[in-house]
Amino acid sequence: MKALVYEGPRKVVVKEMPDAKIERPTDVLVRITTTNICGSDLHMYEGRTNMETGRILGHENLGVVMEVGGGVERIKVGDRVCLPFNIGCGFCKNCERGLTGFCLTANPGMAGAAYGFAGMGPYSGGQAEYLRVPFGDFNCLVLPPDAEEKENDYVMLSDIFPTGYHATVLAGVEPGDSVAIYGAGPVGLMAAMSASIKGASKVMVVDSHPDRLALAEKLGAIPIDDSDGSSAEQILEMTGGEGADRGCECVGYQCSCKGHEVPNATMNNLIKAVRPTGGIGVVGVFVAEDPKADDKLAKEGRLALDFGQLWMKGQHIATGQANVKAYNRKLRDLIAAGKAKPSQIISHELPLEKAPEGYEHFDKRDDGWTKVVLKAAA
Ligand code: NAD
Ligand code: ZN
Repeated sequence: MKALVYEGPRKVVVKEMPDAKIERPTDVLVRITTTNICGSDLHMYEGRTNMETGRILGHENLGVVMEVGGGVERIKVGDRVCLPFNIGCGFCKNCERGLTGFCLTANPGMAGAAYGFAGMGPYSGGQAEYLRVPFGDFNCLVLPPDAEEKENDYVMLSDIFPTGYHATVLAGVEPGDSVAIYGAGPVGLMAAMSASIKGASKVMVVDSHPDRLALAEKLGAIPIDDSDGSSAEQILEMTGGEGADRGCECVGYQCSCKGHEVPNATMNNLIKAVRPTGGIGVVGVFVAEDPKADDKLAKEGRLALDFGQLWMKGQHIATGQANVKAYNRKLRDLIAAGKAKPSQIISHELPLEKAPEGYEHFDKRDDGWTKVVLKAAA
């Protein structure tokens, strides 16, 4: 099969790889039709993780079931399914509680497994013609009859829509809240959409890319340009000096300030911009070690946090991978009902063969390259 393979920093190629196949009776084999490039792929693409060369990337996957293992009961050949980026077993202590981003058995020794992801198990990614889906009955989200027509919406259920929603859950967003979101990448934009769905009274989105801020505005948010590093002050001003009720971190450890990576920039801005006793939800990825960081602390996965401020303000912080399965069913139903249209942030639709081009432009945050979806139909 054709697949996109990581061959080293900023080097990905589409080439022939052995076909994905059923390996266990509980597996499902999916023919991928749409698969996205994610901001998380960029950490790997840039060589800022311990991703092994020779592996297939891609964790935002949707396709048609081709074959099911002998132990699969629910999923049928021909079903159109969207796959959560995290792989859960369904029966461990965390999966039972809905915390499928922290499955204890799919990646032994670690909490959490995913397709084509550094440190999240041996599973191949779906930027390929075929994908092996472990624990198929548990992981496949079956799509409704309009699946083909709304494929570009439903594929966002694999990651960024539930992840943006998760940011608002971690932050504790409730109807009427004002919400400050750092990052107008796909995840931040989905957090903005989710905050509105949850009834936020005011959604403010911070970034320094004009094209991405324009998209945030299109989604009904107030765009805040942080080019001069004044975002926290701007948010305070817009909230009568009090601060936003809730804050979402949708950038992660490679966040920057005036063109340079400053790993604590977004977290300390959020502590400043969120009101006393407010909540901060962090879905942007932070890593346990980042040897290639310029910052001495960041090399060891540490952050100089304004903890005294946070404590004095009585704020809470919640973090982590999104438990996609906790939300994807109800978000699917919002799409089906025409009440959410996550595809509106897509900027480019490319055939799988052109994935390396997509990576290059998306990685440079080139003007207008917000979200790339790859069409992989075999
Ligand atoms: P992205 O890189 O396209 O978007 C990040 C945006 O943040 C960019 O537009 C960038 O300009 C902006 N930014 C950089 N520094 C900033 C700062 N100081 N203040 C405000 N904005 C700043 O990526 P994405 O796809 O939107 O993903 C965002 C993060 O979410 C990544 O770290 C990704 O790995 C992570 N992620 C986490 C999960 C999860 O389950 N927790 C899932 C998907 C993605
Ligand atoms: Zn992703």
